[in-house]
Amino acid sequence: MGPLERGTAMRNGPLVAVIGGGIAGQSAAAVLAAAGALVTVFDKARGAGGRLSTRRDAGLQWDHGAQYFTVRDPALKARVAQLSANGTIASWNGVIGTLGPNGFVPEDRTEPRFVGHPRMSALVGALGSGATVYGVELREIAPRGPRLTVTDRQGEHFGPYDAVVVATPAPQAVPLLALEPALAAAVAEVETAPCWALMLAFDKPLDLGFDGAFVAPETTGGTLAWIARDSAKPGRDPAGAETWVAHAGPDWSRTHLEDPPEVVAALMTAAFVAATDRSMPPIAAFAHRWRHAMTTRPLGRPFILDPRRPIGACGDWCLGARIEGAFVSGRALGAAMAARLGLSPDQASSSASQ
Ligand SMILES: Cc1cc2nc3c(=O)[nH]c(=O)nc-3n(C[C@H](O)[C@H](O)[C@H](O)COP(=O)(O)OP(=O)(O)OC[C@H]3O[C@@H](n4cnc5c(N)ncnc54)[C@H](O)[C@@H]3O)c2cc1C
Repeated sequence: MGPLERGTAMRNGPLVAVIGGGIAGQSAAAVLAAAGALVTVFDKARGAGGRLSTRRDAGLQWDHGAQYFTVRDPALKARVAQLSANGTIASWNGVIGTLGPNGFVPEDRTEPRFVGHPRMSALVGALGSGATVYGVELREIAPRGPRLTVTDRQGEHFGPYDAVVVATPAPQAVPLLALEPALAAAVAEVETAPCWALMLAFDKPLDLGFDGAFVAPETTGGTLAWIARDSAKPGRDPAGAETWVAHAGPDWSRTHLEDPPEVVAALMTAAFVAATDRSMPPIAAFAHRWRHAMTTRPLGRPFILDPRRPIGACGDWCLGARIEGAFVSGRALGAAMAARLGLSPDQASSSASQ
């Protein structure tokens, strides 16, 4: 009996392991838990949240992954309304546009943008099941009789479980799905692109006159694709400093993928200075590499579920490269897996949007 099983074996309900504590895994876990499953979430990172994450350092913070999200799905709309009312989500009404070689042009778009409040990572817990996230990197799913175990890098086994949900980025899902080669092969068709993120802090305002800008390729030769005044998002407490996030373009990120972060930070800071025409030295500048930042070729369906064994996979790579896509995918697999386990999917999907 594994350590996690000991905590749940005396309770009723099927046991489900969710591998990956990002928005997709948490959304699947929420649906399954609402339907009566006992869910254990594993994530290899220290904190859950995946690409929806916030870096904190010396009293400063940056949303260095996902910047904001938009909402079309009715279930997400309902959750956003609830979470806006309790202060976990806020509208971001900043001045946003395009930064071209001739300067900034504001957009005329009206679709609302939302952010986690007071940081993006607040959203993950709010949409999740509340289950403890175990900081374990898993590498294998194996059968044990009719059930499944999962194994970490050190060879420790967890389970057995009645079902396993894989909610990692697609390239990391492929080896985990090796038990079912057809699933692994389908997920291997998904393609992703990397993104280097730069976090900057200044002790005085830059006075750029905008809060976020898509950087036109001509402006920095493709080095930067997006810059945002992170400290201008609602509820941020930047400790008196002005913080900015810059994202490099996908081609530039690929070319510099294996460069040391200090080198990347220096190159991106130089591009930021050139694009904004501000030469004030930052009080902090560091870079983070997102190896599988964006899906460039999605699966094209909301999730994948093995017809024989209760193993499924979900993530933003199923339908598209965004938070909303991860939410929709996770919920859809959660409901399908609940049905597979004999739990009521109706109860699952309606409870998950409560
Ligand atoms: C730079 C950047 C900017 C973005 N901007 C936006 C934006 O503005 N708007 C928007 O909507 N979306 C944006 N996105 C995309 C958005 O962040 C993702 O679509 C969404 O967060 C994906 O959620 P997910 O749960 O599918 O995957 P993830 O968030 O990647 O979660 C997967 C989790 O699996 C874990 N994991 C991986 N392998 C293992 C393993 N073997 N064992 C255990 N755990 C494992 C990882 O640690 C991770 O926490 C951006 C992403 C990046 C990187």
